[in-house]
Amino acid sequence: MYEISHSAPYKYFGAFRFSADDDSDLPLFDDWIDKEWDQNERNKVLDYLKKATCLVAASCMNDCPKCGESFGIATFSDGLWVWDSDFIHYIEVHSLKLPSELIERIQHREYLSPVLSELEQDKIMAAMSGITVEEYRNWRHSI
Ligand SMILES: [Zn+2]
Repeated sequence: MYEISHSAPYKYFGAFRFSADDDSDLPLFDDWIDKEWDQNERNKVLDYLKKATCLVAASCMNDCPKCGESFGIATFSDGLWVWDSDFIHYIEVHSLKLPSELIERIQHREYLSPVLSELEQDKIMAAMSGITVEEYRNWRHSI
């Protein structure tokens, strides 16, 4: 089983616990490793995830809890699903698999990420933050 966070109508996936001793509700990272996933298919999915609209990027780095590699922090979306840059690292380096629901969406879109308008991006960020679009825009313009 896996957990998908819903900030309706958007779906977030990519947060894990890295130790079985961690009693959070997050899915266990090691349960999501799939080294059998077809490499060609994996590369097409990675391309989709990397070329999706970047909603927000931070000027700091994050370290992978598995291998220690540093990577930039950013959040992406295809207009329905939302994921962070560490999710891309997990797939690329650690053979993480995706929920079948997300793979089916990517296949259905023929591996082409949609370009999101500013309004669509603001709607997603507002929903993920639990505030209205207007509140989100006011906050964004205040920083
Ligand atoms: Zn790593």
